[in-house]
Amino acid sequence: MLRSKMVWLTLLLGFLATSVWGQDTAKRSISNVGGGLYRFQNNFHYSVFLVTEQGVLVTDPINADAARWLKAEIAKRFKQPIRYLVYSHDHADHSSGGEVFAEAGAIVVAHANAKSIIKGEKRPTAIPEITFERQLTLELGGQQVILNYHGKNHSNNMITMLFPAQRALFAVDFIPVKTVAYKTLTDSWFPEWPHSLEQVEHLDFDILIPGHGAIGSKADVSVFRNYLQDLYSEVLEQVRSGKTLEQIKVAVDLSKYKTMEKFNDWAPMNVEGVYKQIQLHRRGN
Ligand SMILES: [Zn+2]
Repeated sequence: MLRSKMVWLTLLLGFLATSVWGQDTAKRSISNVGGGLYRFQNNFHYSVFLVTEQGVLVTDPINADAARWLKAEIAKRFKQPIRYLVYSHDHADHSSGGEVFAEAGAIVVAHANAKSIIKGEKRPTAIPEITFERQLTLELGGQQVILNYHGKNHSNNMITMLFPAQRALFAVDFIPVKTVAYKTLTDSWFPEWPHSLEQVEHLDFDILIPGHGAIGSKADVSVFRNYLQDLYSEVLEQVRSGKTLEQIKVAVDLSKYKTMEKFNDWAPMNVEGVYKQIQLHRRGN
């Protein structure tokens, strides 16, 4: 009796989860950033796409359902073929579903390091056809999209996408806008990460479009770089003074960043992530 009730409860919860949070009810929207540049939302994930008179360049597909929805919307609203698909980095929550655009004829572009990971980890997406090491400029309908690799940060294959006509930069996961870094910094690289942000600060743009959360500005890059540098140097200093991780979480003072979103929840996890990175690369004797 109890067991059958449990089964029904499990089925009911499963049904609610599917109907409330499942792909079929995903929150999706399209908003104009400027000119032919649009931002696409799928729940908490965002990408951008550029519409020109000679076709469309899309970026992170997010997942197959999201990509199918976006493909249909682009066909309906703009009546242009999709020419390029560019991945920001290999992580599955951003790169999945690329086959939807590849099968429609889009050329798939990513950083060289992304290709072997997408294949090796069997990401459910299309394998990149064009890869590059440092910089690649794509031209479509008289507009440029400049892809840059800034070194390792969040993943070893992250690129930024610069849209000069709109003075906008699409940068995913490694420059959270007015927000601390995500949890324990899985797949992250120190001290390289802040160096890559310095490179971004030298790019010519005004609008910063992240893969999560609200749109920001170029000033947000410097704020986040300062946060990461302070985080790293504070944790390193405490490690060198012989403290344990639990003691370090208490001792590190990042309070000048307390107005950043998720500060209370994720800053201690950021400390833990950096602590692990430092332990990997440090020899104290
Ligand atoms: Zn990521």
